[in-house]
Amino acid sequence: MALDSARQLAPAPLELPADIDPAEAIAASAYADRIDVRFSSFKDGRGFSLAALLRGYGYDGGLRALGPLLPDQADALLRSGFDAIAGDARPGPERDGRPGAANIYQPDPGSPATRRTALHQRALAARKARAEALAEELDGAAPETILARTLEVYAGRIALLSSFGAEAALGLKLLADADPETPVLFLETHRHFAQTLTYKDTLAAVLGLKDLRVLEPDAGEAAREDADGALYARDGQACCDLRKVRPLARGLEAFDAVITGRKRYHGGERGALKAVEFDGERVKINPLAFLSPDEVAERFKALDLPRHPLTEAGYASIGCWPCTVPASEPGSRDGRWAGENRDECGIFDSAKTARAERAGTVRLI
Ligand code: SF4
Repeated sequence: MALDSARQLAPAPLELPADIDPAEAIAASAYADRIDVRFSSFKDGRGFSLAALLRGYGYDGGLRALGPLLPDQADALLRSGFDAIAGDARPGPERDGRPGAANIYQPDPGSPATRRTALHQRALAARKARAEALAEELDGAAPETILARTLEVYAGRIALLSSFGAEAALGLKLLADADPETPVLFLETHRHFAQTLTYKDTLAAVLGLKDLRVLEPDAGEAAREDADGALYARDGQACCDLRKVRPLARGLEAFDAVITGRKRYHGGERGALKAVEFDGERVKINPLAFLSPDEVAERFKALDLPRHPLTEAGYASIGCWPCTVPASEPGSRDGRWAGENRDECGIFDSAKTARAERAGTVRLI
């Protein structure tokens, strides 16, 4: 079997050198849903041929170009069948006696290099179909089952996003039991309750989380857009965009799938949550989607999970302090953005899928 059974049928990206024997590459591609082709130099034409060959043989998974590539090769790479380009951060070749720039290049989604192509559409359709098949397979399944299956499918390219709020400990505990090395992302908005920050550190230590990553707003953007620190009062959506949406977009660049703590009983758009969703950019995994408030409470008790200190004061859903008040009942999100006409901050934008499909774009990483 090719390339050691395509690296033991690994769901992680399969890396192939640009000079691999074409027959071996075609055979290996049958076991991969994402392939990285490593170019030895920007002049190495074999990587272009390899991409075209794999696409010609029907490979429709992710195909990323790695190595010392040049920005002006993007169009040719995309035409060859790649749907993502990532340099390896080594300086590029010297030009006119000057050192080349680092070769990290991500084409602007609005540029001609990324306009709609049949290959992009096919890659988008393949990722969406994979997510929909998983959603069907895992419909109504237990959290442990959803988590185990998706950690396997998206191994090496999946992270969990946590607010370290009122119900966060359950999802984090399940993850710690399944694979504590999985990255956990926390949005440090600089508007959290002090209790949340303490609780984050406590939970990470108690549960043995090994890779907690704190995502912060860009300091320059914050200084420009929220100079007085009161943007939340003037334009809450803009504040969430600055302090949550953009930092998360940057933090998720390396991942294809993100685990959330959302549940159907939260109501609103969450009432129809599936176990697995594709939003046009990446896959969202919702292991707790089908639990009831009572089941969550029972699991907290059975697992003896530490509680967020503010739950005792009636906070059922805990975010930033300017936008959170105690809720009317357990599990309710009616204490979030009270008085505003919204119940989400924008990081779970349900309109994104429709926009992405209309634009025909595929995320470039
Ligand atoms: Fe700003 Fe409130 Fe959004 Fe936090 S929840 S980022 S304070 S608007």
